[in-house]
Amino acid sequence: MKVPYKPINLKKFTSRPRYIIIHDSNCRFYDLPNYKIDDNKSIVNKMRSDYFVLYNESDLPFHFVLDKIKDDYEILVGRPLRFYCVYEDIKTEFLYSVHVGICSDLSFQKPEQRMYECLCYKILSPIMIRMGIPFKNVYLHKDVTMNPDKINCPGSFFKKEIFLSILKRMLVIK
Ligand SMILES: [Zn+2]
Repeated sequence: MKVPYKPINLKKFTSRPRYIIIHDSNCRFYDLPNYKIDDNKSIVNKMRSDYFVLYNESDLPFHFVLDKIKDDYEILVGRPLRFYCVYEDIKTEFLYSVHVGICSDLSFQKPEQRMYECLCYKILSPIMIRMGIPFKNVYLHKDVTMNPDKINCPGSFFKKEIFLSILKRMLVIK
């Protein structure tokens, strides 16, 4: 399905994003079987059309999506960076954030080391360097929600300490 573009309905950034927020697929696709396991086929196209059907929004609630395709993880565009994503449970100070979604339910599927490496190398470190977003402004959704009892995104198999140590390694500039 080709979701119709409706840029007029999306809210535009009027200054640069200041934060990065990480999600997994369970965030907006609760318990849908297609989004439990990231297999070797890309699911972003289906995710976009399901999101349109479920939420009537013409673009995904993630600017970038990490999706496993064949042997490796790739970054795909979820929502153009021109527009911001609105999460009602996230504190308003984080409105101008870059949202990155992982195509796996990380309460269900354990991430590989390579998943963290691709996330940090291919998208987070370039965005942080080009947009001047400091290390301390990278959050998990569950860090910034006003609903901590309900939101466990990304799921508990996402290990923040592993993630942050890989991110530090990928940020090194000589
Ligand atoms: Zn989330």
